[in-house]
Amino acid sequence: MRLRIAAGNWKMNMDYDEGRELAHAIIKETKPQPGTLTILGTPYIHLKDMVEMAGRNSEVKIAAQNCHQEASGAFTGEISVGMLTSIGVEYVILGHSERRQYFRESNELLSKKADAAIKGGMKPIFCCGEALEIRNEGWHERYVKNQLVKGIFHLEKDDFLKVIIAYEPIWAIGTGVTASPEQAQEMHRMIRLAIAERYDEATAEQTTILYGGSVKPGNARELFAQPDVDGGLVGGASLKAESFLPIIEALSQSRV
Ligand code: PEP
Repeated sequence: MRLRIAAGNWKMNMDYDEGRELAHAIIKETKPQPGTLTILGTPYIHLKDMVEMAGRNSEVKIAAQNCHQEASGAFTGEISVGMLTSIGVEYVILGHSERRQYFRESNELLSKKADAAIKGGMKPIFCCGEALEIRNEGWHERYVKNQLVKGIFHLEKDDFLKVIIAYEPIWAIGTGVTASPEQAQEMHRMIRLAIAERYDEATAEQTTILYGGSVKPGNARELFAQPDVDGGLVGGASLKAESFLPIIEALSQSRV
C-alpha cells in the first residue's frame, strides 16, 4: 500500500507567530490514520520549531520548499540539504512551477537538486505540470513525462522510491480552477505508467503521486477518490486550519 499524503505549501506566507499558531492548530487536530501523512511545507524561519512541534505527532512531517544542489559554499541566500537535515527536516519540495518560472529552475538543475536531497537523506516532493497553452495544444502528457525523465528518472530504483511526485497543472495553481477528477486521474495514470515503463510495476504501484492545483475542502474528497491520486499538495487552502484540516480528513475518507 502506498502512502497517502496531504501536504501544505505555505509558500512565502506566515510570519513567525502566525506560523506557530497554524502549525499548532493542525498538529493538535491531526489524528493517526494508518498509511497517511500530513506534511507542512513552511518557510525556513519555521522549520526548526515545526520539526519540534511535529515531533510529538508522528503523522506530521515537515518540508522545506527548496534546497541548493551543492553541499556548501559561496551561494548567498541559499540553503543546503545538510543544513535542513541538521534540524531534522525530512522532506523538500523541488521544482514547484513558481521556482521553475521565477527562479529559472530547469529540469537539469532539478535533477541535481534531487540527487543532493537523496544523497543527504531527504525525500523530495518533485513537482511537474503543464501550462494551459501546452494542454490546449494537446502535448501535456509528453511535456510532463519529459519533466520526469529529465528531473528524476535518472535515479536508481532504490533512490527513486524515496521520491513523491506532485502533478500540479500550472493553470490550476492559485487560480481557483481545479482539474476535474477525470483530468487528474488521466495524468496520474500516465505518470504511473511512465514509472512502470522506466522502472517496473511494483515501483509504480509504490510511488505516491499527489495532485496540486486549487484543492479545497469542497473538491478534495472527489479528487482523492481517484485510483491514482494519492493525496494533494495544497497551497492557499493550507494557510488556514479550517480549510486544511477537512482536506486531511478527506484523505482518509476518500479511499478504503
Ligand atoms: C501549490 O502552490 O502547490 C498549489 C497547488 O497552490 P493552490 O492550492 O493555491 O492552487
